[in-house]
Amino acid sequence: MAVNDDRLYRRPSDWERYLKAFTAHEDRVYHDSNGVQDLYAEGFEIKGLVGVAMSLSETRKKQRRTRNSHRSRAIRGKSVAAWRPFGWDDDRVTLRPKEAEAIRKAVHDVIAGASISEITRQWKEAGFITSRGNLFQYQTVKQVLLNARLCGYREVRGELVRDGDDQPIVGEWDAIITPKEWYAVTATIRERGRGTGLPRGGLVHKYLLTGILRCGHVFEDGTVCNNKMIGIKANDWVRYEHAYMCKKTVDGGCNKTYKRGDKTDKAIERLVIAKLKQEAEAASQEVPEWNKGDDLERAVRSRKALETRWHEGEIDDETFFRNLPALEARVKELRADQADYLAKKAAAESAREDIATSWGSKTLTQRRELIKKAVHAIVALPGGKGNKAFDPELLKPVWRSAE
Ligand SMILES: [Zn+2]
Repeated sequence: MAVNDDRLYRRPSDWERYLKAFTAHEDRVYHDSNGVQDLYAEGFEIKGLVGVAMSLSETRKKQRRTRNSHRSRAIRGKSVAAWRPFGWDDDRVTLRPKEAEAIRKAVHDVIAGASISEITRQWKEAGFITSRGNLFQYQTVKQVLLNARLCGYREVRGELVRDGDDQPIVGEWDAIITPKEWYAVTATIRERGRGTGLPRGGLVHKYLLTGILRCGHVFEDGTVCNNKMIGIKANDWVRYEHAYMCKKTVDGGCNKTYKRGDKTDKAIERLVIAKLKQEAEAASQEVPEWNKGDDLERAVRSRKALETRWHEGEIDDETFFRNLPALEARVKELRADQADYLAKKAAAESAREDIATSWGSKTLTQRRELIKKAVHAIVALPGGKGNKAFDPELLKPVWRSAE
């Protein structure tokens, strides 16, 4: 009896020996999933292994081969997906330089405050399409950026695959970013989308200070207008491109405050850069080293020891499953703590880079994010319209106090 006929003859010589032994006695019956086969028939032995394999189990073998290759590819950390991952070539190992570069830049931009909506727009404009040939959408960009594959780690259903020493297994493909960058970008995205998973803000702003500037006009009764000012395209006859104004009274504003856009943006940028620089220097001193490495190692060792004792029959099922959850929870908690530390450290390090020099290469959304991080609002006092000179003193930032 054999479960499967290919267990009988892995090599041609096996088949010959089997056939000889089988036919040494009369009246034996050979039966497989295709029915009864007459192994005594003339010429059957000449068909040999190849003939048998071809005629009897070709289709079955093909199915089995496909299944086996999928399984072993997954075990070895190779992609089983039908599509190449964005950023890599068809071999799934070598990088596609343009795509890889776009991913690298996007990761850095997101860590620095860019929104996924903005990255999506940039990728669409650059003409990138997904490996399935579709345009990038918010969700597909998010998936690309969250994938552990980017830093070389293997992931199965959202969990990092780890080796016997509990270290993440590194795949055979070229990495695009470092593990540290991956921890930072995933932490940034998860932090923002907490709960909803929806695009934040939704719309992409056209002007730097829309919604950040507030009208500082004081009414006769002493109250302040405080409406959010809107950005508008400036009239053709002025030398600047855009302006900010308090909405018309029919739209709920007072229409008293108007600021030319170029000089307002410059003045605010200068103030915010100075402020952020000061904060970054303070923050980079403040991330303490992670000191729970030994705890994590110990927790992993305990869990492993429990598993070993269970496998070797030293403890019963009941004891095993009663003790496992606590050990698992401990490992999970320490790992989350570690990821949090790595994210904080990466964030502090990227903040330490010279903000003034990197400001110029930041996108509008990134700049808006940085400004919003620094101020609650900026109050714009009326004045400076028409022939009057622009006066930066009429812009009053309301700074956020350090937490
Ligand atoms: Zn107003």
